[in-house]
Amino acid sequence: MMRPISEMQTEVLDAMPLLDEMEVDFADAIGAVLSRDVDAPEDLPGFENAAMDGYAVIAVDAASPPIDLTIVDDVAAGGLPSVVLTRGTVARIMTGAPIPDGADAIVPVEATEDTQTGSVRILAKAAAGDHIRPAGGSIRAGTRVFDAGMRIRAVHASVMASMGIRPLIRRRPIVAMMSTGDEIVPPSTPTLVRGAIRDSNRTLMAGLLADLGAEIRDYGIINDDVGRFEAVLQDAVDGADVIVTSGGVSMGAYDIVKLALRDRGTVGFFKIAMQPGKPFGFGTVGGIPFFGLPGNPVSVFVSFEQFMRPALLAMMGSDRLYRDRVEGVLDNGADTNPAKTVFLRVSTERDSDGRWHARQSGGQSSNVLSALAFADALAVVPIGVGRVEPGGTVDLEMIHWPEARSRREVLGD
Ligand code: AMP
Ligand code: MG
Repeated sequence: MMRPISEMQTEVLDAMPLLDEMEVDFADAIGAVLSRDVDAPEDLPGFENAAMDGYAVIAVDAASPPIDLTIVDDVAAGGLPSVVLTRGTVARIMTGAPIPDGADAIVPVEATEDTQTGSVRILAKAAAGDHIRPAGGSIRAGTRVFDAGMRIRAVHASVMASMGIRPLIRRRPIVAMMSTGDEIVPPSTPTLVRGAIRDSNRTLMAGLLADLGAEIRDYGIINDDVGRFEAVLQDAVDGADVIVTSGGVSMGAYDIVKLALRDRGTVGFFKIAMQPGKPFGFGTVGGIPFFGLPGNPVSVFVSFEQFMRPALLAMMGSDRLYRDRVEGVLDNGADTNPAKTVFLRVSTERDSDGRWHARQSGGQSSNVLSALAFADALAVVPIGVGRVEPGGTVDLEMIHWPEARSRREVLGD
């Protein structure tokens, strides 16, 4: 009996511990997940200031230009006004400098003329508030700025920097990673003997993990030797938060991951009702989460996306775990196995009406990695469908978009 994807997703998420909280420097927080809500401790900006280089004026003085007004002060960014403006006077002022008391508008330098006599000729009419940035105009003291569970991007970290609030995040996961298989050779191997294939999975996994900010411990390629695999696992357990392997979880006589772990009782080997990615091992080894991904590269990707990426994001404290889906049209249709959720590699395009269209980006066997590289989405054909007519509707899971869907949205709990 094959397991529905959602059942496996629930089991995986339920098994994920939350990583520890830590305080980091602003730029180091980018890519991590915020662990506490952020409230503004003070107004931002903290003081009323000039939005343009020019002259701080009393707006009524500039009500009917042109008019010459006396310059009584010069305020640079970082400087302070030294006089209170009275009628008929102005202060030269630079962008970001505090507004002198008495002034209520800025006339941009472009709308003035230097008279060379200690006064300035105002050429354009000013109204109260012109080109003044009010205190708290960006963020008011006490307001909620960011919610815990958000993945921090450069813009978020920079807002925290502007408020002087050091980010509290959850630590990034340390992931021990290896490929398995006697036929697997390093990608740098110049010529392949018959039967050998280059290791593409470790590059794929490393990239997908790096995308999450994970720290990778790379154990390389492990031969189909149970004793050797067990020794490596033993080492991997120490100091990693998660272990991931590729290959060796299926029904083959040399599927060492399964052979080594199936009788320990902490790792289950499942047949998931999905294609690609039917074989999948999951559980704990030495108390830490273990993901036994299949060997076929496309299966690695799909299993990673459906199970491991959301799991790592959950460990990091993210409230968004799964990539976004949009509704689209499968232009040329497809026949699929109705017993499985089938993920088709497709490339998408948006028509002038804003409708998404998708076409298969190449062969759909689980070893055809190139079609995945040419794809920007997976078209999802659910269990029980079996056939999508040309022009039929499908969900498109956008594989290069950031995660957007929560556990509740996907699993309903
Ligand atoms: P397995 O589940 O170990 O039998 O692997 C399934 C298929 O995936 C086989 O055709 C393997 O050769 C292939 N495969 C396994 N590991 C890798 C890898 N690291 N890179 C590329 N292909 C792999
Ligand atoms: Mg193998």
